[in-house]
Amino acid sequence: MDTTYKAIEVTSPGRFTAVDRLLKEPAPGQVRIRVEACGVCHSDLATVSGQFPGVTFPRVPGHEIIGRIEVIGEGVTKWRVGQRVGVGFFGGEDGTCEPCRRGDFVNCKSPIIPGVTVDGGYAEMMIAEARAIALIPDELGSAEAAPLLCAGVTTFNCLRNAGLRPGDLVAIQGIGGLGHLAVQFARHMGFKTVALARGADKEELAKQLGAHVYIDSAKENAAAALQRLGGADAILTTAPNGRAMGEVVGGLKEHGRLLVVGVAPDPIGVSTIPIVFGGRVISRSLSGTSIDEEDTLAFSVLQGVRPMIEPVPLAEAPAAYERMISGKARFRMVLVTGQ
Ligand SMILES: [Zn+2]
Ligand SMILES: [Zn+2]
Repeated sequence: MDTTYKAIEVTSPGRFTAVDRLLKEPAPGQVRIRVEACGVCHSDLATVSGQFPGVTFPRVPGHEIIGRIEVIGEGVTKWRVGQRVGVGFFGGEDGTCEPCRRGDFVNCKSPIIPGVTVDGGYAEMMIAEARAIALIPDELGSAEAAPLLCAGVTTFNCLRNAGLRPGDLVAIQGIGGLGHLAVQFARHMGFKTVALARGADKEELAKQLGAHVYIDSAKENAAAALQRLGGADAILTTAPNGRAMGEVVGGLKEHGRLLVVGVAPDPIGVSTIPIVFGGRVISRSLSGTSIDEEDTLAFSVLQGVRPMIEPVPLAEAPAAYERMISGKARFRMVLVTGQ
């Protein structure tokens, strides 16, 4: 058996290096995974740019990882060698901070985040905490399952926990890596689904993904268009643009929710009037735990929800990352190994 594996490290901000690393054995409570696929997420920017608080180099990015368990660490009883599993943004909790003690693991104050606090999936191998991995259903290929572990669980969990009811009007702002999944989830959860994006060219795709209505925000005021439909019960914003998020708040009906899942470099600018008068709410959602990931995968199998992906070999990770950052990916770049 090989004693080394290939990985793509970030060695300094913005700089990728392909390296051969020595295989490591998993510590107690961990498993070693032979990676088959890893999605390239916009949040990888936090690692590559070095902006994530506490990130150190070299670091292997990637937190949408699918692979097979190759070695099991001491004390791991739930998992077997050969099982196909995934790891998302949530790589483990410390179990001791206040949110953890209240069962709120996603908001752990010192979480393990693959690709940020530990090495992630831009590699042939990774070590994961056994308590934070998800079982992958046979119906899903590895490359198509990968984006469901971050882009998927983020939007699925957000929509299912937003207090919405079947038939409610839900708008998805932005048809990209997260948005193209959110439109499918919203439709299959039974909401009247509206896609908001810029340009007429996205209309056909939005409708194919399941949108009942498409609003071209380059052509008309999205908030006014939503109000003509009766107002939105929720608007899920996926595009990393705080100004654009603020502009659609006026499209919410009374007690409607702006659901923020895209991290934007600029603040959300919102008039206080629709917040005070009408009780509109700005809310958020952050990924999910491994059982949320398994729920996302099961729902995707049940309803035929699939990401649209561009698979590329692991060695092309720097180019795939650039394509994602440039906004050209349709819709998720996924690194695949030779298996
Ligand atoms: Zn992500
Ligand atoms: Zn904690």
